[in-house]
Amino acid sequence: MSRKKSNKSKFKFQTLRGFKDILPEHQKFWDFVLKNVKETAQDYSYQKIDTPILESSALFERTVGKETDIVEKEMFSFEDRGGEKVTLRPELTASVARAYIEHGMISWSQPVKLWSWGPIFRYDKPQAGRYRQFYQFNFEVLGSSTPEIDSQIIIMASELYKSFGVEIDVQINSIGCPECRKEYIKLLKKYLRDKKMCATCKDRILKNPLRVLDCKEEKCKENLREAPQIIDSLCEECKNHFVKVLENLDESEVSYNLNPFLVRGLDYYNRTTFEFYAKGDEQATQGALGGGGRYDYLIEQINGRETPAVGFAGGVERVILKIKETGREIKSETQGDVFIAQLGEDAKKKCAKLFKDLRKENIKVKEAFSKTGLTDQLEIANKMKVRFALILGQKEIMDDTIIIRDMDSGIQEIINFEKIIPEIKKRLLGEGGVKIYNSN
Ligand code: AMP
Repeated sequence: MSRKKSNKSKFKFQTLRGFKDILPEHQKFWDFVLKNVKETAQDYSYQKIDTPILESSALFERTVGKETDIVEKEMFSFEDRGGEKVTLRPELTASVARAYIEHGMISWSQPVKLWSWGPIFRYDKPQAGRYRQFYQFNFEVLGSSTPEIDSQIIIMASELYKSFGVEIDVQINSIGCPECRKEYIKLLKKYLRDKKMCATCKDRILKNPLRVLDCKEEKCKENLREAPQIIDSLCEECKNHFVKVLENLDESEVSYNLNPFLVRGLDYYNRTTFEFYAKGDEQATQGALGGGGRYDYLIEQINGRETPAVGFAGGVERVILKIKETGREIKSETQGDVFIAQLGEDAKKKCAKLFKDLRKENIKVKEAFSKTGLTDQLEIANKMKVRFALILGQKEIMDDTIIIRDMDSGIQEIINFEKIIPEIKKRLLGEGGVKIYNSN
């Protein structure tokens, strides 16, 4: 009887456009970035927060802004089964701000410093370094208006990129407060009156004029060259704030470029805005590696109490692309100290127990129990860059011994099986009891 073939079985399932699998071979880069983010966050006294991936759509409409690209074109939004409008988060700040209000963090000691890490969703046009699901590391400081906080977050981010081995350019601007911005927008609109701008800009002039400064169209960029600069319209307080931020950066020897066109794509920013680009990518062809700014009115916008705040988010995929470009070798976190090689059925059984016992002693142990040949197993041990291989065959089982092989020198010694754990521990401990990990 012939089995009926259906078209269904031929369908090749693939990741959605703009979505990616992170394969095992790439995980060491992700571990490396996360480890540095975590350490930096701890050094600067940030506490970790995880917020849900799905939030109410209104949260982002209210904070990011209805007239922004993100809300207008890029959100993954849908109605859930209960008819609620929900959105896969297109950024983290709004969620952290919501959590700040929801958990009464205003009564905590201020400022509250929070960091997070996770996937972000934007229905963007996929290209190199631009995905529909990408990861961000995110830092927020809520409850402080002092310029030292703005500069500290920029200094911290610069240090973080340094720890990745990625050289960056810092771009900075101030977009003032709603008052000075009102004045500036009048000047900008007047300036643009007789300029031929693209259709998007024409629309933006009406809905969100500051975003015109962000336009990537050559013609618009040319038209904007002589445009009034927002820095010249800053009120006294905003000007003083910005000067202090820059002075602090100078003092900490963090160099920066003033960029009067840096307004960022989200509505909630005020005063300081900043972005990080890979050095030599002045044209921003690969997009920013990270960015952020001050958002003193966002918490009120979502019905919290007046809470000045500043934040920064970095893109994980983009920074990994840069790390790979530098050719820097990144250690895999799964390397072991010891590899167990076994020969024969009895050895396999004994080695399974030995594996468990070594793990219990906090020794990083590796194996390839599905293999049978010694050469195969030692090759794997070599690739794993372990320091020692323990070899157990029929003869060793009879003698109640085990072979310990130093993988660097190739020297092998026979040890009493009972003594293997203390012996391995002794060898892994350097003088003074400091554990020496494999340096490869
Ligand atoms: P933003 O909130 O847009 O400033 O994003 C912060 C950082 O996230 C950017 O500087 C990028 O490094 C990264 N990023 C933003 N959008 C994407 C995307 N579609 N794909 C990959 N990374 C992105």
